[in-house]
Amino acid sequence: MDIFLYNTLTRKKEVFKPIEEKKAKIYTCGPTVYNFAHIGNLRAYLFMDTLRRVLKYNGYTLTHAMNITDVGHLVSDADEGEDKMLKAARRENKDPFQIAEFYTEKFIEDLDRLNIDKPEIICRATHHIKEMEQYIQEIIKNGYAYETDDTIYFDTSKLDKYGVLTNINVEEQKAGARVDFDKKKKNKTDFALWIKAPENHLMKWNTFWGLCYPGWHIECSAMSRKYLGEIFDIHTGGIDHIPIHHENEIAQSKGATGKIPANYWMHCEFLVVNGEKMSKSLNNLYTLNDLQERGYSPSDYRMFNFSSHYRNKINFTFEAIESAKSALKRLKEGYKIHKQGEAHIEEKTITEYENRFLEAINDDLNMPVAMSIVWEIVKNQKKSKQFANLLKKFDLVLGLKIDEENKKDELPQEILELAKQRKTARENKDWTKSDELRDLILAKGYIVKDGKEGMTIEKK
Ligand code: AMP
Ligand code: ZN
Repeated sequence: MDIFLYNTLTRKKEVFKPIEEKKAKIYTCGPTVYNFAHIGNLRAYLFMDTLRRVLKYNGYTLTHAMNITDVGHLVSDADEGEDKMLKAARRENKDPFQIAEFYTEKFIEDLDRLNIDKPEIICRATHHIKEMEQYIQEIIKNGYAYETDDTIYFDTSKLDKYGVLTNINVEEQKAGARVDFDKKKKNKTDFALWIKAPENHLMKWNTFWGLCYPGWHIECSAMSRKYLGEIFDIHTGGIDHIPIHHENEIAQSKGATGKIPANYWMHCEFLVVNGEKMSKSLNNLYTLNDLQERGYSPSDYRMFNFSSHYRNKINFTFEAIESAKSALKRLKEGYKIHKQGEAHIEEKTITEYENRFLEAINDDLNMPVAMSIVWEIVKNQKKSKQFANLLKKFDLVLGLKIDEENKKDELPQEILELAKQRKTARENKDWTKSDELRDLILAKGYIVKDGKEGMTIEKK
């Protein structure tokens, strides 16, 4: 059966035609590791996981690279503002390399907790400075860059077209542009490839242009080419990557190789809270640990994500995750009942379900429709092992581990209640009470750990 994917490049759902039969080469823009991932960030990686699982379910072999941005780039996409890594280093009084190491580890832990099928290659920007340097030299040689006193800029006016994803009209932009951009840039859309490091800059490398650090976009061009070649199949990211980061990756590739690096560009919409983007300043930011403290496991969060298509916004509320939690519980119970069932189901019925499920997931990863088929099976009055086997097979895509019970992330209500009391005690600096509660939790078979991210509890 064909797989249809929505391609941001053509603004159409298209049949997926891989470069090599039954093989898919994918690149995903990974996180900037300067803080804990919030559940909004993690939605983007659940989308990546679903794509991987759907392709594998269809018999594809994957070569998938994801970067870790462990070098500081500037706070705004447009090369302005503060460097995120350096800001975090100051905040935590650490060196930026330690910051990167710590949050990379936490990010990978989050992927594991969510049962995210990890890319075959996870590559760090700081390990690929040489590749970036070489890439920039190729861009310069081909005449697509210019130097100022402290920056090498990409010259977007040299391209046949800049803005192929967003369909930017550069001419219009030029005409309408007020001179509100960096005066050293020739065109508003030009962006930094390589920046000369000021003396006190902490992350810098000795290169053909002296002590420098890279602009944000070059790492993805250099690493995707290194691991996947000049043209690969699918490039993924969040919708916020479309207008600048991915346009600039395409520009760089055109400058170096003359080609658009990927055939399909896929982007995941945002998770929002009451219609607003998740952010620290709005105090609506949650991590997996925050959810766990309130009694929701990473699998509950995974289940919650299936209620919306990846190209639609998803609104996070505690009512919604509560209903995802009870739905997951019902799904697991339904699976268990089928597992013990003795009814015989005609092969035709099984095949029909199988085809409908495949059609849904191959229709641009339509998980809400796929889940509706799962529920039809769960609710089928005939209870049968054949249905249990079918659900187990579908779980290769869902990744909900439907046959596992009492995972360590699912804490009993009693422990959650004690944890809440301990949190309050700590907030009140009542250390004696906090220690007593820790011992009580331990006596009930759970270990409490206090980290920078707050309290975590695991089964002994
Ligand atoms: P960053 O570390 O800021 O580069 O973000 C990592 C990933 O999270 C990117 O793919 C972003 O598109 C994605 N992202 C950030 N905020 C949200 C959100 N509220 N909902 C979904 N994805 C998000
Ligand atoms: Zn990228």
